[in-house]
Amino acid sequence: MQKTQTLVLINPWIYDFAAYDLWSKPLGLLSLAGYLRECGFAIKLIDCMDIHHPALGDNPNCKPPVRRKFGTGKFFREKLPTPQPLRNTDRSYSRYGMPLSLFRKILSTISEPACFLVTSLMTYWYPGVFEVIRILRETHPRVPILLGGIYARLCTQHAQEYSGATTVINEANLASITAILAQQDLPSPYKPSGFHPYPVFDLYNSIDYICLMTSSGCPYRCRYCASHFLSPAVTRRDPDQVFEELLYWHRTLGIRDFAFYDDALLVSSKTHIRLILEKVLKENLPVRFHTPNALHVREITGDIARLLKRAGFRTIRLGYETSDTSLHQRLDNKVSPGDFEQAVENLRTAGFSRQDIGAYILAGLPGQTVGSVAQTIENVARIGATPYLAEYSPIPHSDLWEAAVSSSEYDLEAEPLYHNNTLLPCWSPEKRDAFGQLKKRVIEIRRTHAKP
Ligand code: SF4
Repeated sequence: MQKTQTLVLINPWIYDFAAYDLWSKPLGLLSLAGYLRECGFAIKLIDCMDIHHPALGDNPNCKPPVRRKFGTGKFFREKLPTPQPLRNTDRSYSRYGMPLSLFRKILSTISEPACFLVTSLMTYWYPGVFEVIRILRETHPRVPILLGGIYARLCTQHAQEYSGATTVINEANLASITAILAQQDLPSPYKPSGFHPYPVFDLYNSIDYICLMTSSGCPYRCRYCASHFLSPAVTRRDPDQVFEELLYWHRTLGIRDFAFYDDALLVSSKTHIRLILEKVLKENLPVRFHTPNALHVREITGDIARLLKRAGFRTIRLGYETSDTSLHQRLDNKVSPGDFEQAVENLRTAGFSRQDIGAYILAGLPGQTVGSVAQTIENVARIGATPYLAEYSPIPHSDLWEAAVSSSEYDLEAEPLYHNNTLLPCWSPEKRDAFGQLKKRVIEIRRTHAKP
């Protein structure tokens, strides 16, 4: 009988100026692990961002990070020297996640696997990915390392040249991954029939929340977004199966907080999210829902707003981006005049407070003025929602990429570290200086909205 092959899947550290756990889990990696486990591989997971790893308790230097409501909170952090290309910023740079020594210790407890699979997220977080690969190369020089995830797909050439991985996976579909595993002389895994395995959340020692994805892709094509590149087709899971998964995590792990990772959760709601939420209501489940990936403003009808409230949505984030109509016409066509006002009114009438309703506002777009952002902040507050600034990060393969490259003083094409949104890389130094005032104003409004 053939010996079961072990695969080690790794979610690297975040290297950045700031990081916060807003229901962030490597869902793609966990889903792939679920599939591979179903294919007959033994799976080990090392999530460098896991704040509950049992080995952390043995480390006297690890003070538990501050956690906040609904499972959100801070990560462990260790200050690092700022990489040379980012030296002009006055913010301190850190490695977020478990201490490096702990990662090595966990790795040393795992006997040599058939293969390492490393994921990647933001393009400018690649130093954490490279550090993981460097350590794997040092400790397990003969084991192949496959690198996948968003950075690998958006900056494939950079990853191939500099990451040190054996193979960079630049396609999202599972077939390509199993084909690559087969190339590594691993036994050809059998395909599980018709079963969509759950992500391996059960491999965490302890978990505060679950991330759910009920659909992939987005019917919109905002010029600053690469959703059409990363998930070209819009597909939806069977609503019954989504509900079964939700129920499974609630009953087996006692999870109450669920964060939706969909790009377009409310689109075609009658045949999708409505069916899922009606089941939640019928079962009277004591769960809370959060939408860190914004909801589409246009889809918030009175009916939908009431359903969201009754089903237990607690954190609503809207993809408003700007109150500048001409900017919407040029960049996304997803909000028309009056849409945002109507959506907020529907949510407020349904019982959401202005603190519950956050509106993402993009800042730092090529050609966008500081005044336009300031105006949007005031409009959001006046209409009855809470502003959240989202600094623009230029994304390779988005429609706006070329405009971003030509408007930036940084060499965005050569160095992904320059995609870091903290730099506001497509704004001039004068506009960047003014950004501090915008942030102050947002904090002021948020404080006012937090008062009972
Ligand atoms: S920004 Fe949102 S609405 Fe626009 S294409 Fe991306 S996922 Fe879709």
